[in-house]
Amino acid sequence: MANVNLKNVTKVYPNGFKAVKSISLDVLDQEFVVLLGPSGCGKTTTLRMIAGLEEITEGTIEIGGKIVNDVEPKDRDIAMVFQNYALYPHMTVYENMAFGLKLRKFPKPEIDKRVKEAARILGIESLLDRKPKQLSGGQRQRVAVGRAIVRNPKVFLFDEPLSNLDAKLRVQMRAELKRLHKNLQATIIYVTHDQVEAMTMADKIVIMKDGIIQQIGDPYSVYFDPQNKFVAGFIGTPAMNFINAKLISDKGKLWVTAETMKIIVPDKFAPKLEPYIDKDIIFGIRPENIYDKMFAVNATEENTVTGMVDVVEPLGSETLIHATIDGNDIVAKVDPKTRAQAGTKIDLVFDVAMMHIFDPETEKNVL
Ligand code: ATP
Repeated sequence: MANVNLKNVTKVYPNGFKAVKSISLDVLDQEFVVLLGPSGCGKTTTLRMIAGLEEITEGTIEIGGKIVNDVEPKDRDIAMVFQNYALYPHMTVYENMAFGLKLRKFPKPEIDKRVKEAARILGIESLLDRKPKQLSGGQRQRVAVGRAIVRNPKVFLFDEPLSNLDAKLRVQMRAELKRLHKNLQATIIYVTHDQVEAMTMADKIVIMKDGIIQQIGDPYSVYFDPQNKFVAGFIGTPAMNFINAKLISDKGKLWVTAETMKIIVPDKFAPKLEPYIDKDIIFGIRPENIYDKMFAVNATEENTVTGMVDVVEPLGSETLIHATIDGNDIVAKVDPKTRAQAGTKIDLVFDVAMMHIFDPETEKNVL
């Protein structure tokens, strides 16, 4: 079993900087877990501690049920694929893939078998005699993965492996890595700052900020049930809109209000919002939950807000409207047939069932 368990793991660098702050995480056998967060949040540090390339200041890391804090990287039964692939330029693809096994004194026929099998899985059999400089970015990436596969490790660690590829290749490699995960039946821990990569590949996403885990969940739950404003704003493109507002009670209902805006709160949310009546709140709504009134099927006075259009961005399948509502900049992802024009007013309909309410002090999601 190749589960990986982190218990209260902390990393303080020699200069005193605390990069990872008491994080706990359970990665199950054969799970694809993505560590996601902005630059500097401690993702790579966490991955390097799992790999054994960085000492753990406090806490324990277990791989397959065994504490590995003091186990050498080479004895951890893991393979790491780096951002820059770190291929040896003077060696052929075959030699690059065979190198680790040679070092470990594997018999030649076994090396040959493993390299050829990995090359077959990755579709790079015809490239085995080439040098890295004779390969495209995507092919190099595959060789780097191949070098990890031949070792048949329990756990694969990936550090932003797609960040050097162009957008089209990234999409293709995403699908390939996902397929590979299925075929290899391996545990994968994958670091990225790209939320689309995380959403499309992960069984479980771990969102980090400032060395602290903000939320752990499957892609569905981090998108629909973000636990705080940071996660809500980090997952989803364009990002969730936030409007500084107030919660009031009127005509037996709760309402989110700002200067001109007055939006009804569905009854199902009322119990959780009692403590916030007559208080400031942060109202959150995703661009895809805002409609141009001309194309909305359920527009009422109670879910419609007037905004001022700043910019209209047609994307083909949809159009982004950048608008201002009571001094707050918002983005709506609307029907491409919209007739919205910069400098004019627009009626926007909110799907109120999809609203989020955040406490302005703790920034916690209160729904
Ligand atoms: P990125 O996406 O930019 O790679 P990251 O989330 O992987 O970011 P880390 O590389 O883990 O972040 O770094 C976390 C923090 O620790 C950063 O603020 C970084 O500057 C700091 N840090 C990294 N290495 C060291 C070091 N050797 N000494 C001191 N601080 C370091």
